[in-house]
Amino acid sequence: MTNSASTIAHQAPTIPAARNAVQDRTVPATQQAEGFYQRIAARNPEINAWLALSRERALAQAARIDAMAARGDELPPLAGVCIGIKDVLTMTGAPTTAASKILESYQAPYDATTVARLEQAGAVLLGKLNCDEFAMGSSNENSAYGPVRNPRALDRVPGGSSGGSAAAVADGMAVATLGTETGGSTRQPASFCGVVGLLPTYGRVSRYGLIAFASSLDRVGPFTNTVEDAALMLHAIAGHDPMDATSALHPVPDYAASLQQPVKGLRIGIPEEYFGEGLDPEVRAAVERAAAALRAAGCELKKISLPHTPYAIATYYVLATAEASANLARFDGVRYGYRADHPKTLADMYRRTRDEGFGTEVKRRILLGTYVLSAGYYDAYYRKAQQVRTLLTRDFLHAFQSVDAILTPTAPTPAFRLGEKTDDPLAMYLADIFTVTANLAGICGVSVPCGISSEGLPIGAQILGPHFGEATILRVAQAIEQAQ
Ligand code: GLN
Repeated sequence: MTNSASTIAHQAPTIPAARNAVQDRTVPATQQAEGFYQRIAARNPEINAWLALSRERALAQAARIDAMAARGDELPPLAGVCIGIKDVLTMTGAPTTAASKILESYQAPYDATTVARLEQAGAVLLGKLNCDEFAMGSSNENSAYGPVRNPRALDRVPGGSSGGSAAAVADGMAVATLGTETGGSTRQPASFCGVVGLLPTYGRVSRYGLIAFASSLDRVGPFTNTVEDAALMLHAIAGHDPMDATSALHPVPDYAASLQQPVKGLRIGIPEEYFGEGLDPEVRAAVERAAAALRAAGCELKKISLPHTPYAIATYYVLATAEASANLARFDGVRYGYRADHPKTLADMYRRTRDEGFGTEVKRRILLGTYVLSAGYYDAYYRKAQQVRTLLTRDFLHAFQSVDAILTPTAPTPAFRLGEKTDDPLAMYLADIFTVTANLAGICGVSVPCGISSEGLPIGAQILGPHFGEATILRVAQAIEQAQ
């Protein structure tokens, strides 16, 4: 690896730096891609962030971009930027497994819209990233292909479910990555790994090609080293898609340009329910410092209340499991991936394929979801959770009448140890306490690094915004970033 290629790969690479190096031909795209592949070869055995590499596709794209640069063509916005894709998004050129045995070596026949849009914007797609199986988890320990280690502290989890996506950016194995969220899966791992993770508004980004977990909650969002990069990534993937009927027609603003506007005068809500019992004192102190930085930048801080917050975890785990139990019915050994050997009957084939193909947490979710949807329990659980979801959404709609954005911790603690919560699913679910609310309400959110604990672990601040308020929350996140 040359010195300049290793510079791009290791030191918190940014999109403008990578693209400029392609444009002025100091580090061509092919050399950048090779630099990242060498970094991955050196680091992945320990971190386990990558499940598959799409070398041929990546190098063909890099060569195309370099040829454009050599001709002096105008380069697209992500020209030569090396990006990794969470393995719940379909992509040709590498297997798509959702980190499940049931999709072992499954080759998707098409690209997810977000994947296709990144490549159209000039990105070089390096490969597929590890995650919790079917994105179900908060620590990346539910992957059928082994856990991911947090590059900032190898005995710690990277968070989940997009643990590989967060770890790859944090460790300089990609400039940026795509993750997904159903209940916190970009923001929580971003906070654990010390990078930026964005949850776009529901409908802002197409879900076409995202393997469904809970369709009313699932979203795609980027991981980056800087807030500006998150804005650039969002711009590339956002917008209406005729292949996803839930994608919005709402126009896509120039998010990076809007970062130039000052945050002065913005009203920032501080919800009391997010600063109570169970919050690690060092996390609290770091988020309070972020609040002080916003005040110093001219924001007005306002105490607010989101009174239904205590019901969010229960509501989320009823609705998400209900939808999962329906979505995962398609994995039956007939249409995709793994099939049990020598089945005696059709029913035996279904039963054993699902028994052998799904991991423990996925089975737990299917059982829970089937239970809450079953006759006799539907009204008590599923319908009730839908009603509470409406109340949680109204909390936010009410709050956003008097504030422009809301500041909270992203997670109650810094990254926990591998194995620490694996025997206690409820403790694991509680790690999502500050993040699932935004998924339920459909609003946008971002996690930005705001400090380091005494043990050297990253801490994230979360900024939540109203529907289609991405430009505002990114501005607030950048003000926190600049105060670090
Ligand atoms: N940790 C949450 C869960 O296990 C959220 C996962 C996600 O956002 N994909 O369901």
